[in-house]
Amino acid sequence: MRADTLVNDLKSAHHNLMKKLSKREFEQFKKECLRLQKEWGLLEWDLSFDFRELKNIYSKIYCNLDGMFATIILSSELENEEYKGRDILSIAKHEIIHLLLAKIFGIGTTRFCDEKSFDRAEEEVTRILEKIL
Ligand SMILES: [Zn+2]
Repeated sequence: MRADTLVNDLKSAHHNLMKKLSKREFEQFKKECLRLQKEWGLLEWDLSFDFRELKNIYSKIYCNLDGMFATIILSSELENEEYKGRDILSIAKHEIIHLLLAKIFGIGTTRFCDEKSFDRAEEEVTRILEKIL
């Protein structure tokens, strides 16, 4: 097999692993985030949303505690392998749990002592709550 053929095969194999999300799924994601924000009493936060490709993760949230605003980004492409068993609604829940914890732990973009270890600890608690709530 010629090298360039192999590269093309690998590319298409990789492409098959990706699932592109539709605008409709993004709308569903936003709706669920806003629903949970209301249900969990987090209305003091001003939420905004973005829909673009993220590397290796489904979604991301940036919280600013001083301004009480947060931006939630949903990746426009997800790896099918990892996406299995997770749906848009559970990804939305995951991010709103981060929002909940941001307030509890005082995690904001402007207030860190040891950003990395604090982020790790917070991620662990988030994953637990995602399962039990
Ligand atoms: Zn997370």
